[in-house]
Amino acid sequence: MSIRYIDEIRDLQGKKIFIRVDFNVPLDENLNITDDTRIRAVLPTINQALDGNGIVIIASHLGRPKGERNMKYSLAPAAKRLSRLLDKDVLLALDCIGSEVDEILAKMKPGDIVMLENLRFHPGEEKNDPDFAEALAEQCDIYVNDAFAVSHRAHASVEAITRFVPVAVAGFLMKKEMNYFEKSMKNPMRPLVAILGGAKVSGKIEVVENLLNKVDKIIIGGGMAFTFLKALGYNVGKSLVEEHLVDTARIAYNKAREKGIKFYLPVDCVVADQFNPTAETKVTTVQEIPQDWMALDIGPATVTLFSEAIQNAKTIVWNGPMGVFEMDAFSRGTFAMVSAVANSYALTIVGGGDTDVAVHRAGEYAKISYISTGGGAFLELLEGKVLPGIKVLEEKGTQF
Ligand code: AMP
Repeated sequence: MSIRYIDEIRDLQGKKIFIRVDFNVPLDENLNITDDTRIRAVLPTINQALDGNGIVIIASHLGRPKGERNMKYSLAPAAKRLSRLLDKDVLLALDCIGSEVDEILAKMKPGDIVMLENLRFHPGEEKNDPDFAEALAEQCDIYVNDAFAVSHRAHASVEAITRFVPVAVAGFLMKKEMNYFEKSMKNPMRPLVAILGGAKVSGKIEVVENLLNKVDKIIIGGGMAFTFLKALGYNVGKSLVEEHLVDTARIAYNKAREKGIKFYLPVDCVVADQFNPTAETKVTTVQEIPQDWMALDIGPATVTLFSEAIQNAKTIVWNGPMGVFEMDAFSRGTFAMVSAVANSYALTIVGGGDTDVAVHRAGEYAKISYISTGGGAFLELLEGKVLPGIKVLEEKGTQF
């Protein structure tokens, strides 16, 4: 089963093309967009539909209006920005279904574009409600999913809608995500190294377990390393430990050893007497973490160890910071790893909100092969799950 993409449709002329995008952009208190990466990311798909003389319908969610109309979450700023980027009028409908949308669509000509108001103003969106999905589907001839970041959610505009449309395909952003996923996890150049960090083991243990079937080396930093270190018998003071996962962590570690997968954990760390940017700090080995202190970053010896471990890698997949990088005192480990990954000779794929932020803050994003646009969706792919939004496109692809 394989997904079909928008460029495989020969005739878009005059077709109503519904494009599900992720315009969940960050806004400041005056509702100005502070980062329009998500809008720019889908321009190739929108342009493909416009250049083919389709009638383009853009649909997205923004924030969490919880099924109610709340203008704080209006897509008006996104419509305005899209209009500027396309240098073309983008009409914003007052709703995403109903008579006003029908009237707008009836008047649209090939090459026109309309943006529907926030899908999540309707409770049916997050409930994957078939009636709501059908109402959305009735507006179009062709459905395009270019919202990778929400494809792990079985929501009406992502999943159920595909049952009511004649043609369902993916856009170019989705194509990029799928291509890099294929190159990193399905068919990687080896050695394949995974780097995992972030706060907790919970939420990532399935990732670790799945990666043990794929990678040659696994590197674990961040808060999650301390549950593993505890499992190996270290006394980690007040560092973040999820007691209920200590056994699970030990099993995963042993499994890696049985399979001959190299498993790297920190050998030293930056410890602090409080969780605070002005806390007193020092570097200690993991054997010597003081009882009342907590480890909030990897130390310099660990940076060297981890950097050397990725030196011969041909593919690197990374999710999660190595420390509390939001605070300067605990950011060096993460930034040093950004630099090591960026300067490696490998195909490098980074995913997850925080890692993306760290790469941008370090100014190294241009040297990373691909930064995934999906946090949760990227993690679920690493877990080995089939995303609901992708599964339905694969099913539809066979009927193409
Ligand atoms: P996650 O969402 O699971 O990827 O976690 C990201 C968060 O993990 C960031 O906000 C970091 O501040 C936090 N983090 C990283 N290392 C540590 C650590 N050693 N202790 C506590 N929090 C950490």
